[in-house]
Parts: sequence; C-alpha cells; structure tokens
Amino acid sequence: MKKGDLAPKLKLSLPPPDELCLSKFLTNSGTFKDGDLLVNKNGVRIVSENEVETPALIQPSDNQLSLADFDAIKVIGKGNGGIVRLVQHKWTNQFFALKVIQVNIDESVLKLIGRELKINQSSKCPYVVVCYQSFYDNGVISIILEYMDGGSLADFLKKVNRIPEPYLAAICKQVLKGLWYLHHEKHIIHRDLKPSNLLINHAGEVKITDFGVSAILASTSSLANTFVGTSYYMSPERIKGGSYGYRSDIWGLGLIMLECATGQYPYTPPQPGGWDGFYELMDTVVNEPAPSAPSDLYSPEFCSFISACVQKNPRERLSANELLAHPFIKKFDNLDIDLGFYFTSAGPPLATLLDKI
Ligand code: ATP
Ligand code: MG
Repeated sequence: MKKGDLAPKLKLSLPPPDELCLSKFLTNSGTFKDGDLLVNKNGVRIVSENEVETPALIQPSDNQLSLADFDAIKVIGKGNGGIVRLVQHKWTNQFFALKVIQVNIDESVLKLIGRELKINQSSKCPYVVVCYQSFYDNGVISIILEYMDGGSLADFLKKVNRIPEPYLAAICKQVLKGLWYLHHEKHIIHRDLKPSNLLINHAGEVKITDFGVSAILASTSSLANTFVGTSYYMSPERIKGGSYGYRSDIWGLGLIMLECATGQYPYTPPQPGGWDGFYELMDTVVNEPAPSAPSDLYSPEFCSFISACVQKNPRERLSANELLAHPFIKKFDNLDIDLGFYFTSAGPPLATLLDKI
C-alpha cells in the first residue's frame, strides 16, 4: 500500500514546545513532573535533579519522535477511552499506531499514568507491543505504538468465529511469554487483559498491549462503576474489591482462550436478551461456578489448561511460567504452526508492517 492510498491525510500539528517547568507536578502549560519523571507534549523524559532540562525526548535511542513527523492515514479502532489511528512516519514511511486518549482527571491520576507510561516505554519484549513515545498536552495523552497489522484478537475472532486448538496453543504460548515478562520482569499486573488488548500481525506474532494506562483510566474515571468501564474478563477477587495479584491476569487469559475456542463469551446471561446490567454479570462471576471447556468437544489437555486458569481461588491458578510447561502448550510444539499464514488467510492486513525504527 502506498502512502495516502486509504484516506485523505490529516495533519497532526503541534504547537511550539512549551517552556518546561520545574514545579512539583502539574503546571499551567500542561507539563507534568513527578520526581525525575517529566511528561509533556514533547514526550516522557527522565530528568536528574541536577540536570538542566531541555525539551528533548527520553527514548534511549537517537530516534526522537514528534507528533508533527507523522501523517494520519486512517482510523483503525475506537475504544472507550480514545481513538487509534494508523499513522505514517513522514521521513521513513514506516507505520505506527497513534492512540489518543482524552482525559479529564486530577493530578494524582496523571501521576499514576506518568509512571505507567514510563514502564511502557521501558518494556522490551517481543510479546509486548512497543510503546515508542508518549505525549501529554493539556488533557490529551497521545501514545505512539508499534503498529500490529492484523488488528486485535477480538477483530480476528469476529472473522473466524472459532480458533482450533493447535493455533490457540501457539497464540496462548506467546501471550504467556508476554505475561511472564510483565509479571516477573516488570512486576506489573496487566489488569485489562481481553481479546481487544491482544494484537496480531502478518508475521504470526501475538503481543500484549494496553497494560496500565487504560486500566487506571477505567478504574478512576467516571466509567468506573458502569458496564462500559468494567471488563468482562475481570477476576472474581477483583470484582469483590479485595486485593488481587498477577493471578488475576491468568483468570482473564483462561476466559479469553475459552472464548476463542468456543466462539462465545464463557458466561451465558440468564435471560435471552443479554446481561441485565453490570451487576448481574459481576454477580454471576462471583457466585456461580467457574466456566469450563466441554470435555466432549475439546482435548483433555485444553480442558485441563482452562481449569488451571479459571479457578475462582487465585491461589489455585497456575502462574504464567507454570502454564508455559502445561501439556496443552507442549502438545503442538513440534507441529510448526504457521500463525502468520493463519492470520492473513482471514483477510489481508490494512497496511504492510515495515521494519521498525
Ligand atoms: P477499551 O477501550 O475498552 O480498552 P479497546 O482495547 O478495543 O477497548 P483501544 O485500545 O482504543 O480499545 O483499541 C481499539 C482498537 O484499535 C483495537 O481493538 C484494535 O483493533 C486497534 N488497535 C489498537 N492498538 C493497535 C496497534 N498498536 N496496532 C494496530 N491496531 C491497534
Ligand atoms: Mg485496547
């Protein structure tokens, strides 16, 4: 696909850089500072106390991205919190995804988000979507992400309805490696694992995205107590409002895998019209038995895998590392599953992924 084929290009223009401010954190110019962390329209930057600040970006590499360097090609997705666009870097023609989130939050939440963005930018794992740069400008957070040309697992599932076990094992293996990285290298809980936060590409890669920031927004914004702001994949201990840990993500993974296998969200509403509001679903997850894979339709390994994830007591769930050694993941290991072919057979990618900066 050539640059500009898809839609008239929108220019993302940026006002000239503001003076950076050293005040404690939120300033009139929209700059936010907390300790050594500085977030403003020029990016996220770590500054030492003694350093004289300049409006440079913090990427460890020499490549310093600015929003003005991108052409917007097309809107590729909309979530509750914002809009995602396919953008193209003007000088290299490489594609990225630009996520723009409009926020209306106080300083304490902004402080949390700044920390999460810092973690996102420092994440280096082939199973986690790369966050290249983040910007904050008076209520708008813009995040330049690695572009995943197959979209999300939710988009893919809509096309194929169900995913056969061998492909599911190959997908799951990558998600587990990503989760293992987040849990044990970064010490963070994803908190918002769901099919739309697992992205795929034509090379057969599966990567986790949206950890931290969207979960913070969902739990702190006005959406917090609505059906919209609450994930269908939340573990019972989270719903109950108690403490929760890494194993909360494993519950979500189990529900996602079951949904991918059956083509349906694992909990069925008591009446045909769907869930009668958010409390009914939450009540079902907390009080009804955990869902399971029907043993007449799926292999014993798959049924056992789902049961190892979807235990109502988090202590009875296996960790990401333990699950990587589960017989379901091992079963198809020597089959050389071609996920790239499988993903692209459902439809060509919107734009071809070029080498990253
Ligand atoms: P929610 O707002 O409830 O978390 P969501 O995850 O679908 O829902 P977004 O994170 O805004 O919302 O993403 C919207 C859609 O944009 C995704 O479903 C996916 O199709 C697409 N998308 C997001 N990030 C990327 C990316 N890095 N590369 C390609 N497509 C992406
Ligand atoms: Mg998302």
